[in-house]
Amino acid sequence: MGNEWGFETKQIHAGWEGDPETGARVVPIYQTTAFNFRDSAHGAALFALEELGNIYTRIMNPTQQAFELRIAALEGAPESVPPGLPAALAVGSGQQAETVTMLTLCEAGDHVVASSSLYGGTYNLFHYTLPKLGISVDFVEDIDNIDEWESKITDNTKVLYGETIGNPANDVFPLREVGALGKAKGIPLVIDNTVASPYLCNPLNEGANIVVQSATKFIGGHGNSMGGVIIDGANFDFGASGRFPNFTNPDPSYHGLNYWEMLGAGCFIVKARLQFLRDLGGAVSPFNAFLFIQGVETLSLRMDRHVANAQAVAEFLEGREEVESVQYAGLASSPWHDRAKELLPRGPGSVPAFVMKGGAAAGQAFADALTLHSNLANIGDVRSLVIHPASTTHAQLTPEEQATTGVHPGLVRLSVGIESIEDIIADLEQGFRAAKEA
Ligand SMILES: *Cc1c(COP(=O)(O)O)cnc(C)c1O
Repeated sequence: MGNEWGFETKQIHAGWEGDPETGARVVPIYQTTAFNFRDSAHGAALFALEELGNIYTRIMNPTQQAFELRIAALEGAPESVPPGLPAALAVGSGQQAETVTMLTLCEAGDHVVASSSLYGGTYNLFHYTLPKLGISVDFVEDIDNIDEWESKITDNTKVLYGETIGNPANDVFPLREVGALGKAKGIPLVIDNTVASPYLCNPLNEGANIVVQSATKFIGGHGNSMGGVIIDGANFDFGASGRFPNFTNPDPSYHGLNYWEMLGAGCFIVKARLQFLRDLGGAVSPFNAFLFIQGVETLSLRMDRHVANAQAVAEFLEGREEVESVQYAGLASSPWHDRAKELLPRGPGSVPAFVMKGGAAAGQAFADALTLHSNLANIGDVRSLVIHPASTTHAQLTPEEQATTGVHPGLVRLSVGIESIEDIIADLEQGFRAAKEA
């Protein structure tokens, strides 16, 4: 249904036409753990994938499914993948989406090449936790240097990884160039599209094979629920790659299913659901899936406003003498300004960051003085938010690691909300006055 619709139509209609039993127009919250089998033969057919249907909410649930179908449509993924499942998989958080993705593609002995400009939680997962499982990660320092990406690839490399818009560096990922490299080498490109949201960019159309999202942020949009989504572009050839025996050999943990041979393109997301969500848990609650559906129905309206306000804030910041530099690709001073215009024509997000002259003390004094902005660890809320990353989100990193992830001691990160722009700017002016006094 509706892959030819415009974005604004899909965000309201894709994946749900109404409840066939009751006629309920809005997606109901199916708050149930399990679903009745008609009889044992029906249960057996469901487990054998001979018939598709709900078994247990860890694996599948109608509220989750409506959300999955909608996000798949918005990210430009197929309407469904064999044997008729959504091309997206909703899980309990953005971190869970990343973890399930990496463990579906990699096992002990495997290798990942990732951008070094990453969300703090992702950096920790890649730098400490994946290596404990025997999965090593090499970080590319200059993400625009394709030779550096290529030089880090080994025979065991299973994933190339980056963020559409780096958080908090506000760099714009070279999707087309790294996507082409991955295609030539038979390695999937996995992209975290959280900061852009599917409205500002569809990485699957620009060279990525798999997208992960923290639905906690712009998709939900109201700062009330944790969730994540994995989206399979069904555009990676596991057979031709030769790097993925887990996909091209029978899987003893699922009736000897040979994912690539039996299911073909899209088999990644089916394996993520049937094997890894089954084994690791971390499903999204039906109530949170319902709230994400409510949020996503206004995504385009919110993002247009977020971006307009962020552009005004970035220009205001750039004009302040207290500011050393502003990181936002909507500014002509950004090295990623031209790429942002190509890949993010509706705007480069609304999470600008800037470095205060005066270092950590000035950054903290500024954040503490704001009253309209909430000082907390989140982005993508309708409310304007502020944080001092060096003492919070990135505090577990060494100073050298902070530098490679783009976190200067005086860095302040904003998540520009959708309030009246005059009130947002007035609050920031108050922050500058307080920092001067401090
Ligand atoms: C928040 C965030 C995550 C993690 O998502 P959670 O839902 O908090 O687990 C991953 N990537 C980016 C870019 C984020 O902003």
